[in-house]
Amino acid sequence: MSFRIGLIRGDGIGPEIVTEAKKVLDKIASVYGHQFTYQELLLGGACIDATGEPITKETIEGAKASDAVLMGSIGGDAATSPWYKLEPEKRPEAGLLGIRKALGLFANLRPAVLYPELAGACPLKEELTEGGFDMLIMRELTGGLYFGERHTGVENGLRTAVDTLTYNEEEIRRIAVKGFEIARKRRNHVTSVDKANVLDSSRLWRSVVEEVHKDYPDVELSHMLVDNCAMQLVRDPKQFDVILTENMFGDILSDEASMVTGSIGMLASASLNDTSFGLYEPSHGSAPDIAGQDKANPIATILSAAMLLRYSLNLQKEADAVEEAVQKVLTEGYRTGDIMSTGCTLVGTKEMGDIITERINL
Ligand code: NAD
Repeated sequence: MSFRIGLIRGDGIGPEIVTEAKKVLDKIASVYGHQFTYQELLLGGACIDATGEPITKETIEGAKASDAVLMGSIGGDAATSPWYKLEPEKRPEAGLLGIRKALGLFANLRPAVLYPELAGACPLKEELTEGGFDMLIMRELTGGLYFGERHTGVENGLRTAVDTLTYNEEEIRRIAVKGFEIARKRRNHVTSVDKANVLDSSRLWRSVVEEVHKDYPDVELSHMLVDNCAMQLVRDPKQFDVILTENMFGDILSDEASMVTGSIGMLASASLNDTSFGLYEPSHGSAPDIAGQDKANPIATILSAAMLLRYSLNLQKEADAVEEAVQKVLTEGYRTGDIMSTGCTLVGTKEMGDIITERINL
């Protein structure tokens, strides 16, 4: 089959890690008989350097014309990069917000996977994580507290600030549909997280999630209060498959879940809209401290490419093949510096990409 993939190489380690992920996609195309056509798109710091703006019309049009976009990370060192002397709306991060808005990306997916081989990086006790875990946090990205009306003023002589948390049923329904659909591609379990004992928005969240669940009787649904979920993530992370939640709760829980894996260079992410289109990128930043040194771990970006194959191109066995290749390479003991431990073989960005690519075969 033929697909069009947009490539945003980004800043810092971005170009290095995207090069390795593209190598993997090219191998998938040749092994499974697909044709991937790439279009290079500019965003963030690299786009500022080339055009003076963090995002351009060409970037948005190019992304819209693609089946999916794979991106490295955006941004530089805020203390030293000239990009951060610009007005906030001209800085690299404005490009990221701009592309999410232009493409209507309302669903953010962050898998948190603990590979048994990397158990040493996990800060939890071994008996809690034996055998590893594999969960996915599905966070609503364009509504809730971060997008509600806000103001600061003086009331009754006291400085007072107000933020509002609003969700309508449509915003909840569309993310719930995504959550159940994705659970069907995993282990068929959704934990919907809210604060329904206190918040009206959470009570609406819970009732709409239950309505949507009627269309997915094969997927098991449970509800959990957010404070309990924060505790369960460190008490028994193996219990989770898909965690479905609103914007602020997801922001906090996804960082907690990624910390529990202990390996930032291993964590993929995706942002989806209501078509099959998605923007796929590692969860980590552009790591300017190690840029250009062949030290970056490319696995988060390679696993983001696997998500792209699974969720936007609907190529399940190809996505499995990438994930299995990563697993094999870890089992064989190859490590970049960030996940290195005694007895393992230290490799650079390029060699890690090459070895993973070599392990993909029919
Ligand atoms: P960071 O994630 O870039 O780096 C934090 C630490 O983790 C650094 O020591 C870095 O070397 C290390 N690290 C990160 N990714 C790694 C990898 N793949 N392999 C090995 N080590 C890795 O976070 P930061 O330093 O706070 O941010 C740097 C820049 O990235 C900032 O401009 C920030 O705004 C941007 N950022 C962008 C995104 C994004 O594009 N979505 C996300 C987070 C941060």
